[in-house]
Amino acid sequence: MAAARWPGVAEADGALTLTVAEGVTSAVVHALARGEAPPPPFAVRALTPLPAAVPDGERPITVDQTNLSVIVGETVVVKWYPRPVRGPHPAPGLLAHLAGFARTATPYACLFWEDALVALVTAYLPDARDGWEWCVDEAEAGRTGFAAEIGRLAAELHLAMATPSEVFPHPVRLPRPDGPGPATWPARAEEALRAALALTGGEDGAWLAARAATLRRELAPLASARPSPLIRIHGDLHVGQILRWRDGYAVVDFDGNPTVADGEAFQPAARDLAQLRTSVDHAAQVAVRRRGTDPEAALAWAAAAREDVRKSYLAALAEAGRPELLDETLLRPFEIEQECRELIYAARHLPRWRYAPMGVLRSWFP
Ligand code: ADP
Ligand code: MG
Repeated sequence: MAAARWPGVAEADGALTLTVAEGVTSAVVHALARGEAPPPPFAVRALTPLPAAVPDGERPITVDQTNLSVIVGETVVVKWYPRPVRGPHPAPGLLAHLAGFARTATPYACLFWEDALVALVTAYLPDARDGWEWCVDEAEAGRTGFAAEIGRLAAELHLAMATPSEVFPHPVRLPRPDGPGPATWPARAEEALRAALALTGGEDGAWLAARAATLRRELAPLASARPSPLIRIHGDLHVGQILRWRDGYAVVDFDGNPTVADGEAFQPAARDLAQLRTSVDHAAQVAVRRRGTDPEAALAWAAAAREDVRKSYLAALAEAGRPELLDETLLRPFEIEQECRELIYAARHLPRWRYAPMGVLRSWFP
């Protein structure tokens, strides 16, 4: 079986497909650890040296995931992109910029095929569980201690994003009146609301339609938003991207949000914080549906936890002397926009998810 050392990449109708045979992930990791260059048109962007001795053996990660992650020798994770996309991808630049940020899985290398990112190689975090497990456990148990920790984690991530590096020498921007920024936010949110209204049918759709004016009022502050600072954000920061592992919490998956049309890389920090907070509300809905948690208890838990996330996020920014990184007036409108995006996502990709954003919206606007 000497042939199967690198994955296969096929291109048809302008779309790439990646196939990874058994044993390939382990072979690739060992080749990279030896410093071997892959055969063209593969290319490697090295970020941190791999451990010299990676044990043999590979096993796939089996949780719900968009891509295909495989663990090699219980030390390295390779995230393969089964449908690689040509052109710029946010993760390599972000991970290079975040070099030294300890609260993510150490990134070792990016593997490209021509101009398409096909894999990310990172450190394996032992005993890692993502928030769709651990945070739902907390909701079920009514424990909120985690909230201060993930609020701080989000702030530390943003502080690292806002610190100059060779990759991003100017990581904090003020929007220009003629450039992307506040001027585009109201239309982007309105578009999300309209799509959510159009795509949500039945009783839920009728309920939403009856609240359209209320939701629009919540979005209104976007129209008078100040030109607050823009940074590179995570872009898809929900509890599922926060792993609780042997040594604490870590944030992973810098692929951004493929369902957002506004591909502007620099965004207000409030977008990440809004998404993180709403994901805590979603965890409460999951606990009610899947674990039989009492709905009132779950809502009270979510209200307390999301407030603690906000407080500890703010405290961490203040401690670092960077309180200006968060424009709090954007938080609520972005949370509303996020719930619209969850409804759009449910309608287009995962109908059984609709209950979560609907449950949250119904609790916010009884
Ligand atoms: P996807 O793009 O498929 O969502 P993620 O990077 O979010 O990929 O990873 C998917 C899942 O794999 C995570 O939810 C987590 O359970 C697991 N995982 C990801 N990275 C690591 C890691 N470094 N160590 C351990 N488990 C991980
Ligand atoms: Mg993910």
